[in-house]
Amino acid sequence: MSTAPAPLRDAADWRADFPALRQSVHGRPLVYLDSAASAQQPGAVIDAVASYQREDHANVHRGVHTLSHRATEAYEGARDKLRDFVNASSRSEIVLTKGTTEAINLVAQSYCRPRLQPGDNIVITHLEHHANIVPWQLVCEQTGTELKIAPINDRGEVEVDGLYGLIDEKTVLVGIAHVSNALGTVNPVEDIVAYCRDREAAVLIDGAQGVPHLPVDVQTIDCDFYTFSGHKMFGPTGTGVLYGREALLDAMPPWQGGGDMILEVTFDKTTYNELPYKFEAGTPNISGAVGFAAAVDYLQRIGMRQIADYEHELHDYMVSRLRGVDGIRFIGEATRKASVQSFLLDDIHSHDLGTILDHQGVAVRTGHHCAMPVMQRFGVSGTCRASLALYNNRDDVDRLVAALEKAREIFG
Ligand code: PLP
Repeated sequence: MSTAPAPLRDAADWRADFPALRQSVHGRPLVYLDSAASAQQPGAVIDAVASYQREDHANVHRGVHTLSHRATEAYEGARDKLRDFVNASSRSEIVLTKGTTEAINLVAQSYCRPRLQPGDNIVITHLEHHANIVPWQLVCEQTGTELKIAPINDRGEVEVDGLYGLIDEKTVLVGIAHVSNALGTVNPVEDIVAYCRDREAAVLIDGAQGVPHLPVDVQTIDCDFYTFSGHKMFGPTGTGVLYGREALLDAMPPWQGGGDMILEVTFDKTTYNELPYKFEAGTPNISGAVGFAAAVDYLQRIGMRQIADYEHELHDYMVSRLRGVDGIRFIGEATRKASVQSFLLDDIHSHDLGTILDHQGVAVRTGHHCAMPVMQRFGVSGTCRASLALYNNRDDVDRLVAALEKAREIFG
């Protein structure tokens, strides 16, 4: 967080940084409202990856030659930037993964599995992405322990008292999204962490939808683990971070074995590398890390506070415009929201609606959003989801609304 934010620029300038947004789809200028699935990349990220591939590519850590040094510097430089971005206290706490999913599985298998005893439990909430459900189901099955689910209310907010009621002396870990991908709900993670800290339950925050839209400081949140993905914050796919408190990571066994995570291997005994390399077996995604670092530079140049404020204002505008569309039904109306609005229109199937919007150049997500329990909670099979990023503007929202009006005409 040390980079000083750039002076306020017009959102149109930010949009111009993203080459993919200059194209037309089905003869209409593209309106991209699917950043919660994967955000577009600015030229700075694309160029950083291309330049690395052209000039610096080699394997990291083991080489004595110049290109290997350059690749190592770039890869480890990315770790330093990511440490700074979420304000971890040490670079040892930043494990580079292929995404949020891998990071959560790592915690389930390396932190929880050795600790879980029959009678213990893990607590999550009803609004989680499958990535913050299935790894816990797997580890609970493996250890014969219980997965408890905290309820959400009709607005799509976690019922915090219900959550607290599930946490007891047998709770090993609480896993909760910072921001729900299906509903946009921002959870009160600092309060939840404080409650869990008093009861000695570890907390993992799934920050896949938090980090791209809100300033995140893991020391202020005081969580034990925080996970996020590069491709949702303008970086490449196949990149992500597990932030873990150093003392916890240190005590955890490696998750995967192979090159780079060892100090010495004999057939009698293998000794493991120090943090964070103990958790990074095999050749990592080096070019991805280079792009990830460029994405962090990009976000820091604008400043996360400025991004959050801009998106908040645009989200309010989107909600008020959508509210004016006849036949619209919102799924997710939490008081604190970020970036996302899920909805249905009349009785049009979400995939049909998404296809009609696409033909008008408007890209939204349709279906269950990898959050089937959320859909079950609201009694629907899927929704349309419009999600915002800093490159969107009011014209995009107006185009979405016009496309929805058109869909109503088509479906009569
Ligand atoms: N958690 C949330 C809240 C998400 O939105 C996503 C992706 O949509 C994930 C986890 C999984 O992220 P990834 O597929 O990058 O591992």
